[in-house]
Parts: sequence; C-alpha cells; structure tokens
Amino acid sequence: MWDIDWKSRADALIQSVLLSGADKAGIISSHEIVLDRSFREMCASNVCGNYGRCWMCPPDVGDIDILMNRLEGYNLVLVYQTIQEMKKSNDYDEMLQAGDIHNRIAQKLRSVFVEAGIQNALHIGAGGCRLCSICAKKLGQPCCHPKKAMPSLEAYGINVAKMAEAADMEYMGRQGSVHYFGAVFFNL
Ligand code: SF4
Repeated sequence: MWDIDWKSRADALIQSVLLSGADKAGIISSHEIVLDRSFREMCASNVCGNYGRCWMCPPDVGDIDILMNRLEGYNLVLVYQTIQEMKKSNDYDEMLQAGDIHNRIAQKLRSVFVEAGIQNALHIGAGGCRLCSICAKKLGQPCCHPKKAMPSLEAYGINVAKMAEAADMEYMGRQGSVHYFGAVFFNL
C-alpha cells in the first residue's frame, strides 16, 4: 500500500498500467461513464458469435440492471487502451490476435491493482472473455476460472465511445490499426 498522496498514487497506478503493456491510460470519475441498455440488443444480434456461447457474455453474464448497479459502488475508473498495427486492414484473424494481446494485458492489471493495495477492483475488458481457447460454456461446463473471467464493457452497458472521450483517447483507430479498451472500476 502506498503511503503517499492521492495524486501520486494515481500517477503511479497509471505508470504501472502503461508498463504492463497498455498504450494509453487515464483515470476518470465514475460519474463520467455513460450507461446504455441498448448495447445488450447489439449483443443479442450476435455479430461477434459469442452471444450465449461465453459465460462472460450476455445473457449468461447476468441481468444488465444488476451489472449497472454494481458500478455504482465505485468512484473512479482507470481507462486503458491498446493500439495495435495491422498488416491487413480489417483482417479478422489479426483483430482476434490483437484482442488476445489486449486481454492478456487486462489480466496483468489484476496484479497491478493488488500490488497497489487496491482491493475489490472490478476489471472489465474488451469483447468476450478470451481466457480459455474454448469457453467452457460451449462445452456445457462451468467456468474454468471464475475469479479471472472478465466480462466486456458492452455487457455492462458502458458506452465505450463516450468513455474514450472522457479519458481523452481516440475511440476509432486510424486505418490500419485497431484500438481496444478496458476499464477498472475502483475506489481510492
Ligand atoms: S474463464 Fe474460460 S470458461 Fe470462464 S468465461 Fe472466460 S473463457 Fe469462459
């Protein structure tokens, strides 16, 4: 636990997140997060193919009102972003690889917060949980890593574009790059 003032703690936390592989990181108030239930409809349209096929995606991740209410227990949000160059623009496999890299960084941040002495942080990632190569949900089995499984920002109804704006980050990647976001809700 750091024995220094709030600003120094926040700066140190951001530095640790950057050292863990994120390209950008910043802290915003949880009041700047915009929630929107309609993201669940997008999930239900199953463009990504994970609807009903991952324990951390809708509908299995849980009722959206319960998840939104859970966010109210936090006053701060560390927003982070990974930016990855793609050899071929909009190549699906490259986007999946970029998502895997992002989610590995997201898992590293769990220990960053623990080492910073911040308990009970809520880690939310990009897309569905990609911890296992095949989600146990597809095999009709319980989640293999319930303490590490990570839901998506959209599952919580978080408007990622507005969150990026609040954190002064570019939501859309320029041509040939892909941007992924994650957020850690916490109290200091
Ligand atoms: S940890 Fe594995 S089984 Fe659990 S939600 Fe994530 S991918 Fe699925």
